[in-house]
Amino acid sequence: MGWFWNSFQGLPLSPREIEQLVDILKDRQSAFRKGHYSLIWLPSKLGQYDAKEGYHLLANQMENYDLGIPQKLFWSNKLIAKAGVFAWLATRRKILTTDKFRRMGSQGPSRCILCKAQEESVDHLLLNCSFTAKCWRWLCAKLGWITTLPNDIVSLFQGWPISPHNGILSSLWGVNTSCLVWEVWKERNRRIFWNKARKLGSVLNSLEVSIVENINNMLALDLSVGKKNLTDSDDRIRSGWPGIKIPSFLGGIGDK
Ligand SMILES: [Zn+2]
Repeated sequence: MGWFWNSFQGLPLSPREIEQLVDILKDRQSAFRKGHYSLIWLPSKLGQYDAKEGYHLLANQMENYDLGIPQKLFWSNKLIAKAGVFAWLATRRKILTTDKFRRMGSQGPSRCILCKAQEESVDHLLLNCSFTAKCWRWLCAKLGWITTLPNDIVSLFQGWPISPHNGILSSLWGVNTSCLVWEVWKERNRRIFWNKARKLGSVLNSLEVSIVENINNMLALDLSVGKKNLTDSDDRIRSGWPGIKIPSFLGGIGDK
């Protein structure tokens, strides 16, 4: 089918993890069977490949491999791919923070560029840093969620509330964790590689824009998502996330 499995070699994954990814995708490939005159896709009753079914199949298969973290936090089609992949790598501690460079023998500074107070590690940078902690507090407040956050990023993703249903509020909860860690990582890189620092307010603005864009793109593609779940959560979305364009047939501002 034209797949080149060895292309995974460039990812910062262990041989075992590469093996797991290849297994998952091989299963997906073997789901195709050649008929007399055409290819059919077995998981579908009609025999035709469907992206939504394909996504669910893949997500279900990956569930077994991923630390008990709900896979929709990474692989949702409502989320930009870079943010999801980055968050997935972060929960596997596969991103190159400076503590790793030190362990590899680097003599350079390992202080976190955001707070300039502690060593940069995955958990520090993406969760416990005083700068990042303010981002998480902002996000929880926007969601109306009062909670104590854990000390490590894996526990945070494991315990993040998600809904099995489709809907605007559910999608909002589903995309925001990956968007947040991705935004913090971009700010970290901006400071290290471009020597440019944005203030917290500016980073939070970007984060909100990014989350809202994901949801609006979803609504533009599939208005039925809005129909399913816009009841008691309407006011929370309207007041907390004014950028989300709720379709006008739901009493929203989308088409006005
Ligand atoms: Zn820090």
